Amino acid sequence: MAIGGSAPATLLKSPREIDIMARGGALLYATLQHMKASVRPGVSTAELDTLCEAFIRSHAGAEPAFKGLYGFPGSACISINEEIVHGIPSRKRILQDGDIVTCDVGVKLEGMYTDSAITIAVGEIDALSRRLMDVTLRSLDAGIAAATKDNHVGDIGAAVQAVVEAEGFSVVRELVGHGVGFSPHEELQIPNYGKPKRGKKLAVGLTIAIEPMVNVGTAKTKTLNDKWTVVTADGKRSAHFEHTIAITESGPRILTQPLG
Ligand code: MG
Ligand code: MG
Repeated sequence: MAIGGSAPATLLKSPREIDIMARGGALLYATLQHMKASVRPGVSTAELDTLCEAFIRSHAGAEPAFKGLYGFPGSACISINEEIVHGIPSRKRILQDGDIVTCDVGVKLEGMYTDSAITIAVGEIDALSRRLMDVTLRSLDAGIAAATKDNHVGDIGAAVQAVVEAEGFSVVRELVGHGVGFSPHEELQIPNYGKPKRGKKLAVGLTIAIEPMVNVGTAKTKTLNDKWTVVTADGKRSAHFEHTIAITESGPRILTQPLG
């Protein structure tokens, strides 16, 4: 990781732009909750994708940001169990009791992008999966709390990593969080590991997606033959939670939640 330097000024958003992102982010939050309410054994990932796209498009001026992005066929990336990210929705992928499923969605509203993901239990899940999900969510909260104007990118990663590794789980390193707002993926990378006070300096007006991907076993990944789906190298489970946040004078502001 590069040491020092500031995040590019071209990535900073105005209060007006951040407010647009907060409105898009509220829609994205509602979209993920809508998908979550439909998660149950017997539902296909294609069905979840269809209702995701319809829900976003029912909001005037909003579009699913991932549809067609780099050629991705769905509106949602839907990843089950050992799949970490970028699962392709399919009529053949049927949720089973005991699965965990990650829904990762982007929204474009009035030219501004937001990005958020949640992992959802399907029916009754085992205790290890529950703990994996709890720890991943807790690591996201810790990463967000570290996203303040006086901190650096490395403070976020260090905060995430500390929570995860204290629980004996591993942080995926080959995939990272990122700047988001003017485009779905801006050049600034936000790893889920790092050292305090290292990496780019954060700044008021920066908007970033913080997204710990946490594995029960090895941190190593591999990509399936479909060229999209990233899975754990050992086949053990992975969880993923993501928020888009803005760095403000008064601290981190979560944009992918209901409007306050
Ligand atoms: Mg995402
Ligand atoms: Mg993201």
